[in-house]
Amino acid sequence: MKAIVLYKHGGPEVLQYIDRDTPQPGPGEVLVEIKAAALNRLDIWVRDGWPGIELEYPHILGADGAGVVMKIGIGVSGLQVGDRVAINPNISCGRCLHCAAGRDNLCDSWRLLGESMPGTFAQHIVLPERNLLVLPDVVSFEMAAAASLVYLTAWHSLITRGGLRAGESVVVVGAGGGVNSACIQIAHLSGAKVYVVSDEARKLAKAEALGADVLIDRSKEDWSHSIFNLTERRGADVVVDNVGAATFFRSIRAARKGGRILTVGNTSGPKLEIDNRYLFGKHLTIIGSTMGSHTDFVDVMTLVFEGMLTPVIDSEFPLSEARAAQCKMASGDFFGKILLIT
Ligand code: ZN
Repeated sequence: MKAIVLYKHGGPEVLQYIDRDTPQPGPGEVLVEIKAAALNRLDIWVRDGWPGIELEYPHILGADGAGVVMKIGIGVSGLQVGDRVAINPNISCGRCLHCAAGRDNLCDSWRLLGESMPGTFAQHIVLPERNLLVLPDVVSFEMAAAASLVYLTAWHSLITRGGLRAGESVVVVGAGGGVNSACIQIAHLSGAKVYVVSDEARKLAKAEALGADVLIDRSKEDWSHSIFNLTERRGADVVVDNVGAATFFRSIRAARKGGRILTVGNTSGPKLEIDNRYLFGKHLTIIGSTMGSHTDFVDVMTLVFEGMLTPVIDSEFPLSEARAAQCKMASGDFFGKILLIT
């Protein structure tokens, strides 16, 4: 099979499009022919490397994907050859106490496709049966691949961990990335009033089409002041900040007394400036999470399958052009998901 692999960390030049042996499914596992995969910033961070990361080379990148079941292992009972499937990229053991309690995202031996095991930027992948969800005929491989990781992440953060309720105000800081566009849609669907902060008018216009109620251009105004004034000097119930270093101080200022700040990442850097007086003085709660449980995956993908949530696709590249696709992501000049088609 063809795959995008790396033999060492570095820039896009370390990505290679090569032939690899097609893996074979063991007991409880399924061989999937990938039809579409989607990029995430995580892929670039894995490619660049970080202190302590250990990859088994050659490493195959990619967390998101959808495809067709080609072969089933012994003991697989819920899937058949030919089934169209979406992939949950979170791999758990299914046996530890967290898994037994339905908190498989906290599994003792949790792993993520494309990070701590071979990923989806390949023509085939072997996965546990429980990581696959059968796609309705009306849902394309592209839609499923574009949805998986970002909707799971956004749903777990906003709904499961954040406890978002109808009528609450939500500030989404940033608009271009896949998680933020999923957050805007999920918050809107939940009946919240959605404020979106971005420094690009073009991205704000697209955010409005996804359900944003109030648009704030942070290149023109101090957005935390604007939120304060727009909420009758109260502040927002929930602030979603996946930007990090560049914005977290203002996110803390924009939250109301007793408000929640949700974070699943930090595209501008991980070291956050926190003025602790705001934290205790305003009774704030900072809620971190990453990915989500399989229950979250089924819940949010069901909404995608029903057309209640529609993934935004920016562009599509052939698998062989993963370098160009990653360069587009690194440039920041995109809105929604960048796909690789195999
Ligand atoms: Zn487990």
